[in-house]
Amino acid sequence: MYYLRDFVSKEPVHPDNLVFTGETTPWEVVMDLDSIKSKMNLDYFRQAPPNLLKYLPLLPIEKQAEFITLREAATPLLKSRKLGRNLGVELYLKVEGKNPTGSFKDRGTAVEISVAREKGAKAIILASTGNMAASCACYAAAAGIPCFIMVPEGVPPGKLSQVLAFGGHIVQVKGTYNDAADLAYKIAEEMGFYLAGDYAFRLEGAKTAAFEIIDQMLFQVPDYLVVPIGCGTNIGGYYKGFMDYYRLGLIDKLPRIIGVQAAGAQAVVNSFEQKTNKIETLASVNTLASAICVSNPLDGLKALEAINSTNGYAISVTDNEILAAQHRLAKEEGIFAESSAAATIAGIQKLIEQDKIEAHKKVLCVLTGDGLKDPQVVLKAAIKPPTIYPQTKDFLSLYENGFFDGKSMVFVEKTDTLFANSPSKADITRELQNLFAAHYSDEYVDKIELSLNKMVQKGKTITISDFQDSIQGVLESPRHIKADVFSVVDFFVDTAKDKKANAKVKVKINNTEYAGSAEGTGPVDAVIKALTHACHETLLFKLVDYKVEIRGQGTDANVYVEMKLQKDNGSSIGSGTSPDIIQASIEAFAEAYNGFNV
Ligand SMILES: *Cc1c(COP(=O)(O)O)cnc(C)c1O
Repeated sequence: MYYLRDFVSKEPVHPDNLVFTGETTPWEVVMDLDSIKSKMNLDYFRQAPPNLLKYLPLLPIEKQAEFITLREAATPLLKSRKLGRNLGVELYLKVEGKNPTGSFKDRGTAVEISVAREKGAKAIILASTGNMAASCACYAAAAGIPCFIMVPEGVPPGKLSQVLAFGGHIVQVKGTYNDAADLAYKIAEEMGFYLAGDYAFRLEGAKTAAFEIIDQMLFQVPDYLVVPIGCGTNIGGYYKGFMDYYRLGLIDKLPRIIGVQAAGAQAVVNSFEQKTNKIETLASVNTLASAICVSNPLDGLKALEAINSTNGYAISVTDNEILAAQHRLAKEEGIFAESSAAATIAGIQKLIEQDKIEAHKKVLCVLTGDGLKDPQVVLKAAIKPPTIYPQTKDFLSLYENGFFDGKSMVFVEKTDTLFANSPSKADITRELQNLFAAHYSDEYVDKIELSLNKMVQKGKTITISDFQDSIQGVLESPRHIKADVFSVVDFFVDTAKDKKANAKVKVKINNTEYAGSAEGTGPVDAVIKALTHACHETLLFKLVDYKVEIRGQGTDANVYVEMKLQKDNGSSIGSGTSPDIIQASIEAFAEAYNGFNV
């Protein structure tokens, strides 16, 4: 029914373990399509609704009744309502994030895990930090096979929570991703485990998406198919799926296949542009689109074949273009796709601008994963929502000041310097307009100016991200305070190695000065205790919450502090932003204190 061969030499291979790839070259499954065709009822096949089980005859599965399915595939194919019209093409979106674990990986995993069980695997092993791991852990759980996942040490646990939920065994490896992958390979060979990942059987599952698209489009072929490339397995699968349908006589042409990579991880794009048939491993990779952040695409040659033999393109897009496309897709269509998936939208925007995709063509973008897989990434561009007191007038103040008319996201390099010196009010108004399309009232601009000047006084040059922090700080500060009852006149901290910190503060409450001093386990602790000490007489409150967030990079990064004070009749939250954590804490304290007087 099928055999395995090396993708490069085309020589058949006969593994005696459960590792289905060469050490340096990928392998492929070759199905006996003529024999399949002779047994298939193609008329029935044309009419049956799309579903992975329908495609079983075209998959390398021997015991079809035991196929492990969680109702992957049959994902929505949506015709764009707005985005396509705005771009001038007939746009279709294949929403692969609707698979059981939130990415297209489930198609390939269903096949891999079914093959592993057919072949009597004791366990599954793989190296991955993301969607592949989640998908394999899920299907291994469904099949009742233990699943081991090698990850490089230091991967954020949040990325692996889905794996842990499915009972996957995570092992952290001291080394890089490649070290983890090499180890998985060796353990699989030695222990007889099934090596899961971007190997021969996975691509067979991936190809069902091509069948499904043709079925859903009632056997019309789109002009262009756009797929993000990580390892290249998925795009290779699409090409193979279209070829299978072509050879079965179900379609009479292929779409032109376009592969999109992130500019920080564009190994396949490099080969395409240099017109070579070799993939050079990248020395380093860098993109926030983690699912396509790959230095050494295992199936890169399959990706090149898909693109070159359909007269397609490979193109790269920057992280900011990806974030902007993700937002645009969500806002114009109501589809929240993972950043790696949204790269396809960024890619077609570019190709349309370059006249490489002509007007009115049928363009199908494959949205490989759900945005909920990595919702954090959105925050990189988003302006934090304002916080108000539960008073209609606070909301109206934002509404009437045009806050909601400005942009809620900005897609620029946040580390670029905006102001090297103290900005004037006019500078601030201009940049508010430039960056955020925002016009704020004088009251806001004055406060922003004050907060930026405080940063400059601390010796900081103002970057775009600092500007954003300062705007947020101002938006979040309580309005309608009659007058600041409380202010910090000055502070002084003494701290040294292996010693308690000592703080002295001078504060003004209703125009009377008070002094306070205290020791603490660290400078912030000492200052807060000193402040509490200084206003002990006037207000009986407790510090119930203290949060710190470092915004930006480097030792001069802004520190954002949020603090909650509690009195018997309620609580008040204040926040402060400064490159100096003590100053940020003091501002937060003052704001929270004054909040009681709203
Ligand atoms: C894995 C993955 C990709 C990359 O697919 P490859 O088969 O590695 O090229 C793209 N997007 C998402 C969401 C993924 O999970």
